[in-house]
Amino acid sequence: MSKEILNFTRYSLKITQNMDIEALNKRFENASVTEVLTHFLSEYKGEIGLSSSLSYEDQVLTHLICQIDKTAKIFTLDTGRFFPETYTLIDKTNLRYGIKLQVYFPDYQNVQKMVNEHGINLFYDSIENRHLCCQIRKIEPLKRALHGLKVWITGLRRSQSVTRKDMQLVEYDADDNIIKLNPLINWSEEDVIRFVKANNVPYNKLHDKGFPSIGCQPCTRAVEPGEDIRSGRWWWENPEHRECGLHRR
Ligand code: SF4
Repeated sequence: MSKEILNFTRYSLKITQNMDIEALNKRFENASVTEVLTHFLSEYKGEIGLSSSLSYEDQVLTHLICQIDKTAKIFTLDTGRFFPETYTLIDKTNLRYGIKLQVYFPDYQNVQKMVNEHGINLFYDSIENRHLCCQIRKIEPLKRALHGLKVWITGLRRSQSVTRKDMQLVEYDADDNIIKLNPLINWSEEDVIRFVKANNVPYNKLHDKGFPSIGCQPCTRAVEPGEDIRSGRWWWENPEHRECGLHRR
């Protein structure tokens, strides 16, 4: 195929994807989270998965997904630097819903090389080192976890941070060539917590100790009441940099 035809095909494909995404956002504009999940879980059965960080949001989605289809893929990326409370929650979640969260680990050789070259806590030294750590411990395992999927469900919400304010319910992630579904996009923090409490959804006990957003132990700290909920993540960096790269925009 000539270069021109190949470029035209790629361009046409991108346009079609954009149009489909627009149509899907329009169609589900006023739909409930359950309606959205029911549609996508059935339409993309076997090709859809939730990436769970065990956050409040991901626990809400796990709860709702398990009511619709317990065989749907739900996975977590164990960076090896989680809080003990997060590991406890993995067990609790499996027990509560009768499922087994699929756990993806980083490549040990990459971790070994990184740690031996840059130190165990390299992320405090520079943004480049922090990105390297997130790349090796999160992004590479994510690529493996997403392999073969057409839809990636996330617990992202617009009001979580400045980096997420323009997000849509359905998006096309060109980096991973996948449809990204953000069913809780319009929920507030209060909506999420209310749902968790009302439905007795298992949650990370660190939330009760001032941790609104929980990631790896060395990169997460408690925040004061009223502070931005993401301000405890990579707190030594500027707010615009406070993403791990899983949700590049
Ligand atoms: S959040 Fe911190 S410890 Fe976890 S992968 Fe990123 S830099 Fe590494």
